[in-house]
Order: sequence, then C-alpha cells, then structure tokens
Amino acid sequence: MKKGKLLTSIAAAALSLTMLAGCNGSGTTETGDLQMKMEPGEGTKVTAEELDLTIFLHRGGLGAFDYDKMTMFQEAFRETNIKLSGTASASNTDAQQEFNIMLTNSPLPDIIQGTKTNLNSAAIEGALIPLEDLVKEYAPNIQAVFDEHPEYVAGSVASDGHLYYIPSLFEGKPSVGFYIRQDWLDKLGLEVPTTLDEYYNVLKAFREQDPNGNGLKDEVPYFYRDKGVDGLIQLWDAYNTWHVNDEGQVVHGKTEEEYKNAMKALAQWYQEGLIDQEIYSRGSQAREQLLGVNLGGSTHDWFSSTGSFNRFADTIEGFNWVAIAPPADVNGVVKEIFARQELVASGWGISSDNQYPVETIKYFDWWFSENGRRTYAYGIEGVDYTMVDGKPQYTEETLNKEGGVPMYMRDMGQLEFGAPMSIQAEIDAMTPQAQQGFELYNDHPEWYTEQFPALSYTTEEERIIQDQGTAVDTLITETQQEWLMGTKDVDATWDQYLADLDSMGYQQVRQAQQDAYDRYQESLAAIEE
Ligand code: CA
Repeated sequence: MKKGKLLTSIAAAALSLTMLAGCNGSGTTETGDLQMKMEPGEGTKVTAEELDLTIFLHRGGLGAFDYDKMTMFQEAFRETNIKLSGTASASNTDAQQEFNIMLTNSPLPDIIQGTKTNLNSAAIEGALIPLEDLVKEYAPNIQAVFDEHPEYVAGSVASDGHLYYIPSLFEGKPSVGFYIRQDWLDKLGLEVPTTLDEYYNVLKAFREQDPNGNGLKDEVPYFYRDKGVDGLIQLWDAYNTWHVNDEGQVVHGKTEEEYKNAMKALAQWYQEGLIDQEIYSRGSQAREQLLGVNLGGSTHDWFSSTGSFNRFADTIEGFNWVAIAPPADVNGVVKEIFARQELVASGWGISSDNQYPVETIKYFDWWFSENGRRTYAYGIEGVDYTMVDGKPQYTEETLNKEGGVPMYMRDMGQLEFGAPMSIQAEIDAMTPQAQQGFELYNDHPEWYTEQFPALSYTTEEERIIQDQGTAVDTLITETQQEWLMGTKDVDATWDQYLADLDSMGYQQVRQAQQDAYDRYQESLAAIEE
C-alpha cells in the first residue's frame, strides 16, 4: 500500500512517542520486543504508569455504560495499565445523533468506536488517524490476523485506501438454516428431504396428510417470521442481494433469470398452501404462534433462537424440531447463501487528538492476545469461567444468567469494538438444540458460497445507494409480495419489473456497487502483493 505524506508524519510522531514511553521505563521500545506476543501478567503492561484514555462508545438502546462495572475493561486495565472512561451520554438512546455530537467536540475522545460508515466518513474529515503502519510496528497480534485475512483489511479500509479502525470480528459463517418437524416426518413415514423435489413433496405431505392429527387441513408447511421467501429462493440458485455473477459483474440477484424461476415456482407453492398465507403479515412472533399450537412445519431462520423451540415438547406430544442440511438446489448443489459476515462493519479507531497513539494501538492489540481474546469471549476467570483441561468453561452461574450468556457478556463489555469473538464461546453459550443446527452447518464450510464482501463507498456512491437504492429495494420487496400472492403474474410482468427498476436508477446503483467492488479488489491485490 502506498504511504501518504500524512501517514509518514504520523508514523514518525508515533515513533518519537514510543521513545518517550521508553524513557518512562516501559521497556518495550526495542523492535525485537515488539515482535513478541504478549503474555498475561507484567509483560502485557502498555505503560509503566496508569494511563487514562477517553473513549466514545455508544451502546444505543443497551442501557447505561459504566466502564467501572464492565468487568472486561477492568481486566484489560489490570493487564495493560490503560484505563478507559466513556464520553458518550448514557441517557441518549440515539447512537447516530450521539456520534454526530461527539464529532463537534474539541478535543475529540482518544478512542472512537462506531460503525464502519461513521468511522470512515469521520476519518476522511480528519477525525481519525491511519492505523496500518502502527499495526505493523506495534500490534503483532492484530497483524497476524490481518496477514491471514487480508480481506478483513480490504473490507474495512476507507475509500482513500487507509485503514482507520480495527474491526470487530466473528469466527465462523453459520447464521441461519433449514428447520423441520422431525416428528411429523416420522409420523408420515417420510425421510429428511435432501433435494428441492423431496422438500416440495414433504411440504405437500404436511399440507395434505394431517401430521398434527386433529382431522383438519390446518398445517402451515413453510413459514417465516420476517416477511418473504428469501430463505427459499436459493433452492432455484437465486441470490437475494448483490453478488458477482458468472461473468464477474456485480448484479442484484433479484434481477436475474434464476430469481424469476424461483418466484414462478414459489407462487405455485403459495397457491397450493405450502407457504403461510399470512407470511407478509404474521410478524416476528410467527415461530411462537405456529409452532406453539402445532401448526408450523418448516422454516429457514437463525440457529440461536430457532433452535430453542423444542421447549414446546412439554406441551405438544412428540414435538421434535431439528435443523437439517439445505436441500440440494435445482442444479443438485447443496448450498447456503446466507452467512454471517466474519468481518463486522464496526470497530474502534484512534482520534487525531489522541496524544498516545502507540500506547493505544498496543492496548487494541491486547484484545487480540490470548488473554484478551479469552476475556472478550468468556469474561473473568473465577467469576464467569474456570479453566478445565486448559480450556475456558463458563460457570453454571454464567450459563444460567437471565436473558442468556450473550446478553450478560454484553453488559460486561463484549461490545462491537476491535476484538475477535471465539466461535467456541458462542457454541458453549447455546442451548443443545441451537448447537445442533449451528454445528451441523459449521461442519460444512463447503456449503457456503463466496460472500459478497463488505464494501467501502465514496460519499457520492453512498448518496446513490441511499436515494435510488432505497427506491429500488422497495420495488423489489413489493413486487415479490405481489408475485408470491398471485396478484401479478411473474411471466407477464417480469420485463416491466426490470424496466421499472431501471427507471428508478437500478443501473446507477449497480454501477456504484461495481465501482466499490473494483476498488475492494484493488485493495486486496495491493495488500497481498
Ligand atoms: Ca391438521
């Protein structure tokens, strides 16, 4: 990556700051020492004396944020000697507004946490300093992750090519998958469906053969809690959003022939009663409503929450709700197009008013060290977890926290700043039923198609995506509903649909996505050089 003038001067300033720190006796200014991975204990201290830094980190609707009560930050302080104090208002629940107000402050907080969009646009205005050279020199744990995953850097850099924040990271792609009533399959003598045709036949049998045994044809074979049939269109090799087609061009999946075929078939499924007739109106409680009264047969949804519904076995005899592999699509390919982005579009950066950029990047690096990672994922040893055979295990008390482990951990500091989340910790925190689905999909990375990367847009591209893109998305969503419910015929209106999208600016939005994608590819090539 090319170095700008600004970058060079900051690196020079950073270097002199380290020398000063060296005079204070922190003893970590030699290049050789810096390459060493930090170990728990004395060696992790970033400064000899306690250093207080201010941080903007707004939790939105998550409640007040008292850094003295967030035990993960206390642990980080104990290990690094860097103490954070928050500057964001706890009473304002509007995170965007708080971010904008923060930017008008002088001096700026030392550390700024936020979304990728907010951080990069603030950075372009000069509020944050570039981090790539600081990471290279002083953050070996972060650099190791970037070396292994150059796409994390390419997906985080601003449109000027600089990295201004350390991103929050997940491990593992599984997010959603197919679920089915295994006891209904058993009752009707059916196997788990493994192809599109078998899946259709199973839904048809659920509809026709009274698996809930009440003498009524009241079963709702496929349902979904958040409107629409995006979970199913992949069975026709269609894509729900932007992706790169076979010609290497960025297109919206819902303008392609595969989507047209999917909607034609799904309109037929709807007409045959295989899809919830109220799929657009039932709302977020669809699973509770339909599973709880023994009517729902199958869905495609989040593992962590969907896997928890086996509690209905207490009231519905034999109730057995399981995750299954995606049925093979129309071309015989088993795949899941919906995946979690391992690179989260948020993190934290160093403000241009921060007098301690080297200490701050070392502090950031601690969260990527072994102890930092464990703290972020499992909390505090002896309180939230204990070490068993060399591995952290949540205590019973932690596992039984009201609201679940992830919610509790968030209150202890597990927020979306620059830290990597352990997939094992996520699995450990799930119910056995949620684990079943998550692990089934996690064991099959080959099911996952290449994800469209997180892109960085210029201000002009942002504007196009906001303005024309919103209108385009609205038409796409509305038309899907009309096609599915049969108020419009797919074949008869497809060409008009494409023409309407064009007149709303689809081609401009597509070009904006294409340009951002091309820049992403260039960044990636430059990093890998
Ligand atoms: Ca029935």
